[in-house]
Amino acid sequence: MPVHLKPQDVSADLQHFNSVLIVSCPVCPPMCLAMQHNSPFIEFFKRGIKTGAFEDYIQSIRKPLEQRGVRTGTLALHVPTPMMCLWTRWQRNRLLKRARDYEAVLVLGCDSAAYSAQETLKDTDCQVIQGMEMVGTTNATLKFRFPLRIDLHMNRVLKNDATRQHTAHVGATMMRDMMQQCCTEDGKPDFEKMMKFMQSCDKQGFSEGEIAMMKQFCGEAGRPDPERMKQLMEKCGCHVS
Ligand code: SF4
Repeated sequence: MPVHLKPQDVSADLQHFNSVLIVSCPVCPPMCLAMQHNSPFIEFFKRGIKTGAFEDYIQSIRKPLEQRGVRTGTLALHVPTPMMCLWTRWQRNRLLKRARDYEAVLVLGCDSAAYSAQETLKDTDCQVIQGMEMVGTTNATLKFRFPLRIDLHMNRVLKNDATRQHTAHVGATMMRDMMQQCCTEDGKPDFEKMMKFMQSCDKQGFSEGEIAMMKQFCGEAGRPDPERMKQLMEKCGCHVS
């Protein structure tokens, strides 16, 4: 579900840094810029898979910084998932490695993208600045045109209150479904499923404390304990709403 984002003027926030790495989420931000500028999302024969309006926007940030001697770089990871809200541990490590050479990271993405960067860089001196404001959720129609051009027609932006309610609802429903899959009907924990679920968070091994916690997930009536499940997921680096 694309988030609707609006570029922010962060020149004042960046004025004290000598080097800035621009980390962009290659999903919602290019879509929003294309819609806001009424320009194509993809024009394959002109810009490849890059979105012209978004590339121009990145250049408009870099140029004034470089004119006053600030070193800039860019980072956008497309595989295995382009979405910063779903980055793998490997992708987070890539950011950590790149950000070592910079004083600040400017995130072009939503609050969740900024959170991914903050969490990844929390033990470094690198400052994380969010360069886009989350306005709400976008609903748009994709239009395919010849040759290999994709346009987006924005139908509606659901403002933030609705977004928050939607996110909370989706988060709560997902949590409940996931937890229900971890307990059998007679209230016994299904370790096989739990392990699979945790492995989907890039977790390969479990400490004794985590195993002990898993054993306590399921109550007498087969009801999982949301609080303990949440604690374990957070330990795995999963962000639970
Ligand atoms: S991190 Fe935010 S901006 Fe990026 S794909 Fe996820 S919701 Fe969209």
